[in-house]
Amino acid sequence: MRFDIITLFPELFAPMMQSGIIRRAFEARADGSKAVDVHFSQLRDFADGNYRRIDDRPFGGGPGMLMMAEPLARCVESIQAERAALGIPTCPVILFSPIGQALKHAVVERFAKANDEHGSNPGAILICGRYEGLDQRFIDTFVTEQISIGDFVLSGGEIPAMALLDAVARLQPGVLSDDQSHIQDSFNPSIDGLLDHPHYTRPEVWRGQSVPPVLIGGNHAEINKWREAQRKVITQNQRPELLP
Ligand code: SAH
Repeated sequence: MRFDIITLFPELFAPMMQSGIIRRAFEARADGSKAVDVHFSQLRDFADGNYRRIDDRPFGGGPGMLMMAEPLARCVESIQAERAALGIPTCPVILFSPIGQALKHAVVERFAKANDEHGSNPGAILICGRYEGLDQRFIDTFVTEQISIGDFVLSGGEIPAMALLDAVARLQPGVLSDDQSHIQDSFNPSIDGLLDHPHYTRPEVWRGQSVPPVLIGGNHAEINKWREAQRKVITQNQRPELLP
């Protein structure tokens, strides 16, 4: 699927997309295609004048600056025209914002699916806000969904966009070294939607603390039972609202 990112700081994304195993999702495969095809639009390229200004002061007063509607509108329209010319179906226009719905596994899974019921996943246009936010008239006209990554305020939507891209990338087939591993992660409804159980690696005794004996016994039925019980206990303690 294709993601178009609208940002003032496209350079922030390169280290994330080139590091670790998720880079496989963003790299071209032998046939030239990419599991997650990311395109960047520099918002300033859609502004007027020598200063390529994209922000202005808020009506009604108050601190800070706002992103103006017109450069954003031109940028989205240009992306939509390019996508239409390539025959990609219309896609959601997502704005990252503290007022949005919380980003959860179900949302990630929706974007991660290679194919939806119409046969192809169009991905999305992702808008990274800056300053105090965006002119509301642009939001009312173009944005189909607002997504928050938590009840706190960042200085821009680039980190939220990277969070979504990372989470989508690791669900692509062939990206994690073991394709089963994400199924065992926290929040995955294909097991139980609960939090992950604890993990241990060598040495067997570390600073006087032993690994739980069941994990060393080699009895897989017992190990699975222990892990399942741990998932329930941890979820009960940390996030009881996730229990059925
Ligand atoms: N005035 C806004 C905050 C603007 S922060 C408010 O009080 O709600 C600047 C930009 O950072 C936002 O436009 C948004 O794109 C991004 N941002 C900040 N915090 C975020 C969060 N928790 N989730 C998603 N995006 C966020």
